[in-house]
Amino acid sequence: MKSVLGGKGANLAEMTNIGLPVPPGWTVSTEACTVFYENDKQLTKEILEQIQVNLKVLEGETGKKFGDKENPLLVSVRSGAAFSMPGMMDTILNLGLNDKTVLTIGEKTNNMRFAYDSYRRFIQMFSDVVLEIQKYKFEHVLDKYKEDNGCSDDTQLTIKNLADIVEEFKAIVKKEKGLNFPQDPQEQLIMSINAVFLSWNNPRAKAYRNLNDIPHHIGTAVNVQSMVFGNMGDDCGTGVAFTRNPSTGERKLYGEFLVNAQGEDVVAGVRTPKPIDELNNIMPEIYAQFVKCSQLLETHYRDMQDIEFTIEQGKLYMLQTRNGKRTVHAALRAAVEMVEEGLITQEEAILRIEPRHLDQLLHPNFDVKTMKAAVPLTQGLPASPGAATGKVYFNSEDVVRAAANGEKVILVRRETSPEDIEGMVAAQGILTSRGGMTSHAAVVARGMGKCCVAGCESLKVDEELKILVMGDERIAEGEYISLDGSSGKVYKGTIKTVEPELSGHFGILMEWADKIRTLKIRTNADTPRDAKAAIRFGAEGIGLCRTEHMFFDEARIPVVRRMILSVTVEQRKKALNLLLPMQKSDFKDLYKVMENKPVTVRLLDPPLHEFLPHEEKDIIALAKDFDISVDRLKETIHSLQEVNPMLGHRGCRLAVTYPEIAQMQTRAIMEAAIEVMKEENCTVVPEIMIPLVGIIAELDYVKKVVVATAEKVKEENNSSIEYLVGTMIEIPRAALLADEIAKEAQFFSFGTNDLTQMTYGFSRDDAGKFISEYKEKGIMQDDPFESVDQEGVGKLIELGVKLGRTTKPDLKIGVCGEHGGDPKSIDFFYKIGLDYVSCSPFRVPIARLAAAQSVLKSK
Ligand code: PEP
Ligand code: MG
Repeated sequence: MKSVLGGKGANLAEMTNIGLPVPPGWTVSTEACTVFYENDKQLTKEILEQIQVNLKVLEGETGKKFGDKENPLLVSVRSGAAFSMPGMMDTILNLGLNDKTVLTIGEKTNNMRFAYDSYRRFIQMFSDVVLEIQKYKFEHVLDKYKEDNGCSDDTQLTIKNLADIVEEFKAIVKKEKGLNFPQDPQEQLIMSINAVFLSWNNPRAKAYRNLNDIPHHIGTAVNVQSMVFGNMGDDCGTGVAFTRNPSTGERKLYGEFLVNAQGEDVVAGVRTPKPIDELNNIMPEIYAQFVKCSQLLETHYRDMQDIEFTIEQGKLYMLQTRNGKRTVHAALRAAVEMVEEGLITQEEAILRIEPRHLDQLLHPNFDVKTMKAAVPLTQGLPASPGAATGKVYFNSEDVVRAAANGEKVILVRRETSPEDIEGMVAAQGILTSRGGMTSHAAVVARGMGKCCVAGCESLKVDEELKILVMGDERIAEGEYISLDGSSGKVYKGTIKTVEPELSGHFGILMEWADKIRTLKIRTNADTPRDAKAAIRFGAEGIGLCRTEHMFFDEARIPVVRRMILSVTVEQRKKALNLLLPMQKSDFKDLYKVMENKPVTVRLLDPPLHEFLPHEEKDIIALAKDFDISVDRLKETIHSLQEVNPMLGHRGCRLAVTYPEIAQMQTRAIMEAAIEVMKEENCTVVPEIMIPLVGIIAELDYVKKVVVATAEKVKEENNSSIEYLVGTMIEIPRAALLADEIAKEAQFFSFGTNDLTQMTYGFSRDDAGKFISEYKEKGIMQDDPFESVDQEGVGKLIELGVKLGRTTKPDLKIGVCGEHGGDPKSIDFFYKIGLDYVSCSPFRVPIARLAAAQSVLKSK
């Protein structure tokens, strides 16, 4: 009944129903909250009457009475919506205390200090959340008393001090609100319930709901429960426990408790709590009862529970239970073991793991203890997960040199380009001050499984002076920084990292997921190393091999440049002939690693200026190499330079203007496949993919070049090898005309990076600068380069799928943009009927799990 009673209320009621000792109380329902808002933010007569009826029942059950001189009832008032929701008013304890009942409680407990301390806490909490008087006004008074009396701690204040503080607190209320602190417990209660309902719509709560897709109309419940005290003596205590270890998942009660204490003392660390096992030595009967209760709760909820309890004068009370938060290690172990124990099904186990959290298993992480002391310097985009510590260097060469000397290094660049590949390989992590989630640095780092923080706009990177500036902070070459690629945080100095360990539970859960999912999972990989990693993680093929990454190898770049700077077709063909064997051997290596699995190779995509040098010294060297004047080379470079990021002379446009390049690549793809089939006795069906198509005639033109070359290679080799020619759908126009395009394409692969860029008109490399602000201002909820924009870009994809399959019902369709590794996007791709998603190797397990969850959720 979470929707009526809220999470807290439902669990309290449930615990009561199954016979556990819960302090009696009742819940004002979420429905009452809705009625409250419909009634001009007033409790209706009916609700007020029901509150009175239930209060009487509570008084009857406890034998205590609100405001009674002999036996006063004290209650806690706590909010609790269906979803756990920070931002709302949370808790008021000790409600029912006033100038009279405080004395009775003091006498009854023989502890006047406790009574006054509870009273001052109550006034403080009530004034903060109900009367909205700023907290610091009360804290000042408390601090003043501590200082005047030489107390370092609240607990050292005397009864007299506390009684004086209570008077001062009441005076603050009088001064701020012009009213006497309410002495009537009835009035205190009604005011508190009102305040909880009002807090449902405070700006913090609204913002939280917006962020987490929680509807605004559902309202919150209010729980009113009689107080129990763990701080009345040595036969009292309080504690928190998990039914399994939340770090490791081990099936063993894990928690801590304090004798003679209240809940907040455990949290505040005033005293050091004892491990829960020790309760067995002090109160063996209570311990045995608690173990039984906790086991019952776990079996009942069929999940690990996080339980709060209090012992009041030798009697155990359960105050709260909820599903326990846990590390991904613990989540995996607990899920798998719960299936083995027969507590849950395999399907439930699969749904219990958050796919994103698998990241923590696959990459190094910061050591938890060392991490606690670290203060971040700044934050950028969490572009590729993992943790890294190293000395900063500002260019690829320096990184490679330092790494060769055995140093751990971080590559820091304004933004990376394909020229930086070697530095990226050698570095522990990558930090850039520009670029978004699909920038070069982000995409390449994710592919390598390397930690990367991108688009850290608050940092000034001076690559010339080799210095990193952030406000007054300066970090020079050779100094240490640490990066957390999962949060985007950047730290000064070193933080210890720990290597990940893959447990057997991971493998078991993945196998279960594979049995259920229907989407195929491919990987984006350009090197045998990445492909091998991806296969280890369960990839079923390559969905995108970006051939350009092969061009940046040190040995090849001069030939690539020769090809680009050629003036005549003959010159270009000559250079391409030199590239052919290199590309061919790359493809052979890749096919061999992939064995019989499908491999989609994309023809050259990026604009040519990316392959040319930018720095003066490199330009001079190249001019010398080519035996042309520096000026002439600069002129050529200038003529190739483009300013519209990623919108220029690239993709299939290159193949239209330089068909020789497509011919060479096709030849390399086909010859490699034919040779590998002979050498390895396996089947390779190359999938040749034409990028950035927007015009049907463009595809026609390039396809003709590809097919003519492929057929020629087949003839030359007397081979009957099969191959596919398909296209990327990454320009909105292509999605709109997908039925026509499908006539000429044997498969579609959605390039959602470019499709997002062009649908929004946001540059992939620059949008990072303002997207975070768009999120903060509520204009956008997610970065559309991270999680696919289902409304707009998604509409185009859906249309593309529908149109494509009107022409060819069996058209194979996948996605190879970065969204292929994002669980939310994967769910969308599953729903609209794609055949596969392709993502970077380290995201393959995430995609496998997410794809299985999509099937289960749609059942
Ligand atoms: C895309 O645009 O989504 C894509 C996969 O291609 P690239 O990122 O290489 O442009
Ligand atoms: Mg693209």
